[in-house]
Order: sequence, then structure tokens, then C-alpha cells
Amino acid sequence: MHSPQESKTSLLSDASKRLQQAMAYVDISEDAIARLQHPKTSLTVSIPVRMDDGSLKVFSGYRVRYEDTRGAGKGGVRYHPGVTLDEVQSLAFWMTFKCALLDLPFGGAKGGITVNPKELSKAELERLSRGYIDAIADAIGVDIDILAPDVYTNAVIMGWMMDQYSTIQRKLCRGVVTGKPLALGGSKGRDTATAMGAFTVIQAMLSKFKLITEETTVAIQGFGNAGSILAGLLAEAGYKVVAVSDSKGGIYAPQGLDIASVKEHKNQSREMKAVYCQDTVCSIIEHQVISNQELLALDVDILIPAALENQVNQDNAADIKAKYIFEVANGPINSDADQILSQRGIYVFPDILVNAGGVTVSYFEWVQNRSGWYWTLDEVNQRLRDKMQIEAEQVWQLSQELNISIRTAAYVHALKRLGIALDAKGNRNYFRS
Ligand code: NAD
Repeated sequence: MHSPQESKTSLLSDASKRLQQAMAYVDISEDAIARLQHPKTSLTVSIPVRMDDGSLKVFSGYRVRYEDTRGAGKGGVRYHPGVTLDEVQSLAFWMTFKCALLDLPFGGAKGGITVNPKELSKAELERLSRGYIDAIADAIGVDIDILAPDVYTNAVIMGWMMDQYSTIQRKLCRGVVTGKPLALGGSKGRDTATAMGAFTVIQAMLSKFKLITEETTVAIQGFGNAGSILAGLLAEAGYKVVAVSDSKGGIYAPQGLDIASVKEHKNQSREMKAVYCQDTVCSIIEHQVISNQELLALDVDILIPAALENQVNQDNAADIKAKYIFEVANGPINSDADQILSQRGIYVFPDILVNAGGVTVSYFEWVQNRSGWYWTLDEVNQRLRDKMQIEAEQVWQLSQELNISIRTAAYVHALKRLGIALDAKGNRNYFRS
């Protein structure tokens, strides 16, 4: 994650610099801006968990609802040893802008537990997840704040969380959590939604630059839910995915990687290697083992950070050689690095646009849970693609018309919607006149 502790303490203030940059281009009241500079509620909880050996461990957990004027809070839950309140607040801030950018009827929220889930047994993980819901139950709800998966949480954990909340409420509350297993009211296409949304944005935006797909090289940092599925979609479409990585490091093959084989090998052995399999015969192909820092600095056309925040910062921004960066992770580039990249003419497509496919299909899941009418995979994917294309195009047009970065354009687009909603509650001009 963002290893140095000091870099974490400033995550929220760094995130809100993007708001300040966008303010200059939006006719928005001072009152609305004042509200957007502070999270609405920040809950810190302690979660006691009985471990398998009989001992008791107490974990710290958080749930932040940043803003909910446009609708109930919406945001994932992260399990990671580096989780802090500051990080959860920044993630909730980004969710606020992401939901407004996609015109979803949600505000922004986020949650997390400071834990290394790899060190827990499955039973301990279940007790921790249910304990988290016990601790935050009063702060969430189908029309209050809706949970979803994030780093190191998945559909099974979402199922436990929905079940625990329903037990507390004494009724089935499917819509309080999205990203659930299909059998518990999940939506078709939710597992692939973030990658599918990112793929749609990449295709739509690269069409502006007339690149030849087969000659376009891609490096992806993070080979989890979002990164590995996106790698597969890009490879299938003909892009040359030359490097991928996980928390332990990466692999690089200039001729391109067979992503399906890399995925299969990683699933079986938990190691990342360029192993290609044909029928039952598998062989390791020539590849370099590289660090995450080396991956970020590769001479590729497209760089996709899909792991964690603050990966590209003032220390390594000058080393980046990619011409286009698509942020699949939340906050992978800090504001200092943004300036350096912009001066160097690198196009950065921001997280609140690129990774919004996940929350968009989470919205679809919430709608399906409330209506009891479930959609086909084709319906989900078509609606996702339509939404992503429309909003990506509007962001692009804004950036061209105002001659501003694509990130600032994305914030301007979202801020306009947030401003209208916040001002509809009344602002100082209304009360003075
Ligand atoms: P995940 O837990 O499935 O995968 C995370 C990946 O990052 C893993 O491959 C892990 O090994 C790798 N990783 C962890 N620490 C790393 C490090 N220090 N350097 C390099 N790689 C590292 O998580 P995910 O759901 O794929 O989420 C990845 C990013 O995408 C996060 O920033 C998340 O907030 C964002 N995101 C995810 C979704 C979603 O629906 N999954 C939606 C929006 C945004």
C-alpha cells in the first residue's frame, strides 16, 4: 500500500486538492463547497473476534459516509493491514464524486478493517465480518449506506455481511450490501463490472488517438479482481499486455503475455509466472521477473495501476514512460505526481471515471434487489457500457472545451451535479433574498 505512514496522513487533503482545482470551472455556491470539504459521519469501531485457538483479538474498523444528498451512501469495505481512518475518508470522498459523475442516485461512503486477512482462517474471517456488521449496523441500511467489496473482500464476505445485517433487523435486507453471491441476490456481471467498465472507457478514449490495437502495449499493476479481468479483456481484444504484477512483484515479456495461462497458473500455484498451456502440456516461456516499481516505469503505451493508492508520486512520476494512464485503482497517483505527468504531456484518465463500472453494476444490483426483477447478463453489460460511454464522452468533451486535464474535467462534471443537489436544499443566497 502507501508504505510510508506520513504519506497516508495526508491522503484526504491530497484528494480534496482535486476539488479545489475543479471549483474554478463550476458555478457552485460557497455553501456547497463547504459541505463537500468534510465527511458527514466517520465511525470508528473496535471488533472483538474469538480466534480459533481460543484467544481474543480486537480489530479496528471504520465506516465513513462522506456525502448523501444525492442518495444513500455507497462504498466498499476494504480489509488490509494499512487501513486507516484517513484512507477510508479519502475513499469515501472519491465515491461521492464517482457516484455523481455516473449520475447514480447515491452519495459516497467507504469502510475498512485494519487486518491482514491472509493471516486469518476462514472461520475467523467470517466472525470478523459479522462482528464488523454488528458494530456498524446502526449506521448502514438500504436507504442509508450500502456496502460492497473492495480490496481483499469478495462475494462470500458480502453474503455474510448481508446475512448478519438481516439477522439484526429480523428481516431480509438484500439491498444493504452489493457484490453478493448470485444465490443471495447478487447481480449477473458484478464480478466483471469494474474491468468491463474500464475496458469500455479505454476503448472509447483510445479511439480519439487512433492507436493500432495490436501494436499497443499495456502494463498492469495489480492482478486481483479488477486488474486480472481487465488484462484478459484487453488481451482478448488484441492489445499486447506485456507486464502484470501482484503484491509480490511482476512479470514482463515484451512479446506479450498469455493472460489466460498466467491467471490459471496463479490460481493453481499462487505464483505469478508466464506459463503457457496447450491441452495438457504446459511450458514456462521466457519472461523477466520485475518489481512493482520497474513495472510502473516500463516503456509501454498504456499503464494501468490496479492495486492501491499513492503508487505514482513525486518520487517516481518522472520515471513513467507510458503515454496514457488509466487509473483502475482508487487514488494511485497523488496530486504532485499529477502535475509532473501533465507537464510531460501524459494523458491520465482518472479513477472516478475509469473504475466506476463496479459501483454502476452495484447500483443495478440494488435496483434489482428492490424491484425483485433480475436482469440477464446481456442487459447488465449493455446498460453498463451505455452509461460508461455517455459519461466518458462528456468528460472528454469538457476537457477539450475548457482546455483542462481529464481528471479536472471529471471533477467538474461531478461537481456540477453535486452543486445542484446541495443548493436545492437552500444556500446563503436563497436565505438572504
Ligand atoms: P483485489 O484484492 O482483488 O486485488 C488487489 C491486487 O493488488 C492483488 O493482485 C494484490 O496482490 C495487488 N497488490 C496488493 N498490494 C500491492 C502492492 N503493494 N503493489 C502491487 N500490487 C499489490 O482488489 P480489487 O478489487 O482488484 O481492487 C484493486 C483496486 O481497484 C483498488 O484500488 C480498489 O479500490 C479499486 N477498485 C476495485 C473495484 C472492484 O469492484 N473490485 C471497484 C472500484 C475500484
